[in-house]
Amino acid sequence: MKMRIAIAGGGLGGLTLARILHLNGIEAVVYEREASRTARSQGGMLDLHPESGQRALAEAGLAGRFRSEARPEGEEHRILDTAGRTLVHHVPEPGSFSGRPEIDRAVLRDLLLESLPEGVVAWRHRLLAAAPRPGGGFGLTFEGGHTADCDVLIGADGARSAVRSLLADTALSPVATLVELTIGDADRRHPKLAELVGPGNLWCVGENQILAAQRLGDGGIKVGVSLRATDRDLDAYRGKRDLLDLFDGWDPGLTALIEAGDGPPIPRRIEAMPTDFRWAHRPGVTLIGDAAHLMPPVGEGANQAMLDGAELAARLAAGPDPDTAIRAYEEEMFARIGPIAEMSARVQAMMLSPTAAEDLVRFFAPRPAEAATVD
Ligand SMILES: Cc1cc2nc3c(=O)[nH]c(=O)nc-3n(C[C@H](O)[C@H](O)[C@H](O)COP(=O)(O)OP(=O)(O)OC[C@H]3O[C@@H](n4cnc5c(N)ncnc54)[C@H](O)[C@@H]3O)c2cc1C
Repeated sequence: MKMRIAIAGGGLGGLTLARILHLNGIEAVVYEREASRTARSQGGMLDLHPESGQRALAEAGLAGRFRSEARPEGEEHRILDTAGRTLVHHVPEPGSFSGRPEIDRAVLRDLLLESLPEGVVAWRHRLLAAAPRPGGGFGLTFEGGHTADCDVLIGADGARSAVRSLLADTALSPVATLVELTIGDADRRHPKLAELVGPGNLWCVGENQILAAQRLGDGGIKVGVSLRATDRDLDAYRGKRDLLDLFDGWDPGLTALIEAGDGPPIPRRIEAMPTDFRWAHRPGVTLIGDAAHLMPPVGEGANQAMLDGAELAARLAAGPDPDTAIRAYEEEMFARIGPIAEMSARVQAMMLSPTAAEDLVRFFAPRPAEAATVD
């Protein structure tokens, strides 16, 4: 009998998994809670690393599409101090994909969605519960009362995974407060800010706080204020004036990024799992991506989610049975993620420290082979 694989969550991890399974002739159903692919804005840009995100896309047969959609120039980044002085200015080699080219999240998700046959993604299916069946596999219950059965269940359902509780309990801890704004059509409406941000990323680094800006594929700019985690009510960050007060003494040319935001600031808490989170193997079920290892957002989460999807798909395709495949995937994934989660926690702490500017300059110090300039 054909193995029925259910993937909860159609984010970057779940879709990469479904695509590579499909290439190997294994059909899976992706149950996604959103109503459609356009139901929610997917956020800003991602840089895909050669050894993880780009490798997963190559295994998905999508390297060519990625190259035509990605923006290698988006890898350019600048680090400034609070007075607007440039501390680091990294310029990638023109047109090179050997570094970490940026791609719009929505474009990347579309690229994966379009690579799947019609009907693989079941939209409007929020998984509420999974109950083990006596003969193996799980009975799934979705919001609205739909049900389905599967032999193998893969939780690709992000930070607040519903599948995770089948395997282990863990608490998420706050690691930062992020307040975001968007500036649309920046080249025409705010040319000075567009020039300041450049084609990639800008980080203006103060004590315990960062004002960052990222060029989007549609010509806009995403502005992000990162603050240390606090118990303060998020409503305290919903007004531009309140936010600007946190930047007293900073160069007005930098805080203009907040003033130019099109709508009110949108605050949210950023959380992470303990870096040593693991579970004991249980037949027929596993986790990938943020469901398995939620890390501070310092550039690894999506890359590792996609690599998880690629590695699990390769294991399931190689056989000999799903359980051996899942066990092998889990051992490899835990060994790979441990050091990455530790590094991400260290970088996050460094970015929001009193000495962040000098620490970041050291962190980004160019290696000899890199095309970088430090003004
Ligand atoms: C501000 C910020 C910036 C970031 N920048 C980067 C970066 O530059 N580079 C990088 O590599 N990573 C970055 N990350 C991390 C990255 O976004 C995540 O690690 C990545 O999206 C994880 O992919 P995923 O597929 O595991 O989960 P998600 O992308 O969260 O996808 C999970 C999917 O599951 C669905 N879902 C959730 N619950 C259910 C349910 N019960 N039933 C059905 N469907 C469900 C959701 O709707 C969603 O579509 C950033 C994160 C943040 C917050």
